[in-house]
Amino acid sequence: MEQSFLEFQNVSFQYREDSPIVLDDVSIQVNQNEWVAVIGHNGSGKSTMAKLMNGLLSPNEGYVYVDGLLLSEENIWEIRRKVGMVFQNPDNQFVGTTVKDDVAFGLENHGIPREEMVKRIAHSLKAVGMEEYEDHEPHRLSGGQKQRVAIASVLAVAPSMVILDEATAMLDPKGRKEIMHTVNQVRQERDVSVVTITHDLNEVTLADRVIVMNKGNVWFEGTPRELFEQKEDLQSIGLDIPLVSKFAHELKGLGLDVKTQPLNHEELM
Ligand code: ADP
Repeated sequence: MEQSFLEFQNVSFQYREDSPIVLDDVSIQVNQNEWVAVIGHNGSGKSTMAKLMNGLLSPNEGYVYVDGLLLSEENIWEIRRKVGMVFQNPDNQFVGTTVKDDVAFGLENHGIPREEMVKRIAHSLKAVGMEEYEDHEPHRLSGGQKQRVAIASVLAVAPSMVILDEATAMLDPKGRKEIMHTVNQVRQERDVSVVTITHDLNEVTLADRVIVMNKGNVWFEGTPRELFEQKEDLQSIGLDIPLVSKFAHELKGLGLDVKTQPLNHEELM
């Protein structure tokens, strides 16, 4: 059996006692080295779920386990180190005047010794293909480059899981492609789990598994292929499917079974 890295057991959450329930009895898991895409309408609870995954929020009911550790006050810093987050707006994530300083900042927060820091900065910038930009000003980079630096800052802390919460939403198609390529590479090389919260259904085709959230519940959980076979059901909750799956459906209409063919990552990138 695949080893689960993160697990929600019957997690419910509301922001205040008198406000609506945002997550209602959610049980999910993310395996080690797995890439899970989370999609759903605005307000369906995706970001809240992400924040519960790294202890920025705690459940009102149920349990969150990260790498066997129960999310609790005692374990919160260990969990935040294990689960890194990259957010939507790259400009809000920079604190350093150079790329190098920016990556260093996160490490200082975690008390990493200077010598080790230098190594980690070089290593993580290399992992995202930004090693030549270490002395550049972050604000002058392209959107895709900025998010790659944000990913490097997260990687430098050596997490076991990286969450990208709409991290490609503000990027152009080239920037999106860069990020998805980087994420996939990092996942393979560093053996991390990846959770991408996205509106871009094309991104979903790259994931191992997809979770569709609807009104605080898990509406669907399965492979991208299984999801795309449910075209009509997806439309019933108002989500459309991308070109790739339309193509797959058309092929199926022509009598070609696309189910048996794995999605080709190289082609999609
Ligand atoms: P999604 O990421 O799917 O758009 P969110 O998790 O951001 O959904 O939001 C789910 C629900 O929780 C929404 O109704 C939203 O208004 C509410 N919500 C989100 N953040 C807060 C907050 N800080 N305080 C109160 N309500 C919030």
